[in-house]
Amino acid sequence: MNNKTSRIKRRRKLGIQLYFIFLVLLVLAITIITTGMIVFLFDKIFEIILPGFIVAAIMSVTISLIITAHLNRRLLSPIAKLSKSMELIADGKFDIHIETKSKIGEIRRIYNNFNIMARELRSTEVLQNDFISNVSHEIKTPISAIEGYAMLLQYSNLSDDEENEYLCKILFNTHRLSELVGNILLLSKLDNQTIQNQRVSYRLDEQVRKALLMLEQKWTEKETEFDVDMEKIVYLGHESLLLHVWTNLIDNAVKFGPKGGLVKIRLKRFDNIIRFEIEDNGSGISEEDAKHIFDRFYQSDSSHKDEGNGLGLALVKRIIDICGGNIELKSSKGLGSKFTVYLPVYDEDQK
Ligand code: ADP
Repeated sequence: MNNKTSRIKRRRKLGIQLYFIFLVLLVLAITIITTGMIVFLFDKIFEIILPGFIVAAIMSVTISLIITAHLNRRLLSPIAKLSKSMELIADGKFDIHIETKSKIGEIRRIYNNFNIMARELRSTEVLQNDFISNVSHEIKTPISAIEGYAMLLQYSNLSDDEENEYLCKILFNTHRLSELVGNILLLSKLDNQTIQNQRVSYRLDEQVRKALLMLEQKWTEKETEFDVDMEKIVYLGHESLLLHVWTNLIDNAVKFGPKGGLVKIRLKRFDNIIRFEIEDNGSGISEEDAKHIFDRFYQSDSSHKDEGNGLGLALVKRIIDICGGNIELKSSKGLGSKFTVYLPVYDEDQK
């Protein structure tokens, strides 16, 4: 590998040296021809033999003109073009692609890197715009619902049942809104790393049980059954962050599982790694959807759109990344889904 790199470097160096030798010879040839022609013309037309210092002056002017024209074409104009493009980038215009005919490797590489940079900036801009429009949409939906039901509540001739129904809808949407804002806040804290994430020692299996209990109302309503097999594991990790992982994964398994469905949970420690598995017999996820499942605001199953905001798995992924772990999905449409989380084991001195 090193040999190959040094061979390429040597070839490049040789290429540049040959290029300069060729350039010097070319400049000399053009200078001699131009000067010879001028001397010849003066001799033939005006019958004047030009003195040596004038010939030398003509030669040096010709040389400098050729070099300036060459530098301008090969070096200065590509750099001027680059500088103008940089100004556009500074103005926030990322939709730009530049090309050069320059034979100089460095210039070509700068152009190439510039185009990569512009492309990256473009995609970040698209992501940011998408994120803002998703957030606006997700916030607007519950707010409009709350506003609508609050207006209905103003009518005086409502029955108790109607009043109750509208109040429940307002509470449901308020909860949705607060969950959404909470998730966005947590994601932004995780992105900006402004979250306290000191590792503490705690029982991981008990934490998963706690997550199960927190969701009791949901799985009772759905009559979901659980098959749980977990080893007792004392884990050194980000306790409060990991609770989000288990609640999100269990919540989804219940939500996307059928009524009376079965959810299997396994927790096992290997030498340096802990494996958590959760498997449901629900609607499953197609191969195409699986590619985007961890993207922010992605929801493949529109029948449950109101019950979530598509941020759950994005959060799960981000937290697992921060913990140095990994998450995998095995699923196919109609055949249920299995999420597997791998967490590295840390020692006490890695707190
Ligand atoms: P949501 O708030 O919609 O649950 P998530 O980020 O948790 O958002 O999940 C994103 C999407 O992934 C869901 O809308 C759903 O389409 C799909 N999904 C997640 N978990 C499962 C599962 N266990 N079974 C089927 N689909 C799932």
